[in-house]
Amino acid sequence: MVRHVLVTGGAGYIGAHACKALARAGYVPVCFDNLSTGWEAAVKFGPLVKGDLMDRASIDAALREWRPVAVMHFAALSLVGESMADPGRYWRVNVGGALNLIEACVAAGVEKFVFSSTCATYGDQDGVVLDEDTPQRPINAYGASKLAIEQMLGNFGASHGLQSVIFRYFNVAGADPEGEVGERHEPETHLIPLMLDAVEGRRGALTVFGSDYPTADGTCVRDYVHVTDLADAHVRGLRWLEGGKGSRVFCLGTGTGYSVRAVIDHARVVTNRAVPIVEGARRAGDAAALVCGSDRARDELGWAPERGLDAMIRDAWRWSQGAGF
Ligand code: UDP
Repeated sequence: MVRHVLVTGGAGYIGAHACKALARAGYVPVCFDNLSTGWEAAVKFGPLVKGDLMDRASIDAALREWRPVAVMHFAALSLVGESMADPGRYWRVNVGGALNLIEACVAAGVEKFVFSSTCATYGDQDGVVLDEDTPQRPINAYGASKLAIEQMLGNFGASHGLQSVIFRYFNVAGADPEGEVGERHEPETHLIPLMLDAVEGRRGALTVFGSDYPTADGTCVRDYVHVTDLADAHVRGLRWLEGGKGSRVFCLGTGTGYSVRAVIDHARVVTNRAVPIVEGARRAGDAAALVCGSDRARDELGWAPERGLDAMIRDAWRWSQGAGF
């Protein structure tokens, strides 16, 4: 029997990698995407439904047509800086869109839901390793909108039996090692692709956002996780739900933090090229350090991230030098 999974945001960076992992695992990913930030050319592993989460009827129609065994919800606005400049959009699109999707799932009898949440729900916690039990205190509208959706899933779980796996991602990076999909954002705001653009001279020097944070070298510390490892965790999360194990939150990171300067140093070694940088001001909404305690995902899902920072930079670099989308 064909098992369809509705993947919202399947034309986006993480969603496209998840679609590949799902297809490999024997599911048919049905990509539901409005292509506002995603790419039609990234939809390679199953059908594309052009639809919008703000339009409930388009969700209902997709669920009726494809009868998915589960929904994976990636579609969202996801830029910290933008969310500080325009918080209303984040509440409207992320929270409003998720509410439409969750209500449509309940109406259609879809009971399994995998949700992309974020370590941005934790806020700034003074150097502690963040795990599933750490209190969430977001300091930007992006994180606040994702926390609201986590709470929404809890409410719908209690009232309607919706079972959810919530993944709190740390900093996702890299590209499919086989080069089928990769990262493309317009505008690009993420550290590793911008850094590689600076290496290649496609853009000016990389601006380091803040050198006066309370970290060892003064720059922000993040926990980078390879997008292919992350995609693998989603298949495991889906199997968890199919195994009837109930709702659960998992943090996804490697447990190792790298400062912005450390990432630059690694890029210099991996590419064997200079990385032009300029020092700039802090970016609004950035926490000093976000490092993941991912024991639960390892223990309960059997997930073990296989690729480190150098592999992320190498795969992202290869992708950025190739045809792209
Ligand atoms: N960063 C930077 N310069 C850039 C982009 C990002 O110094 O041009 C820093 C940013 O302040 C953060 C880290 O790199 O500490 C990762 O940022 P990114 O936007 O990739 O991911 P986020 O942490 O916002 O999810």
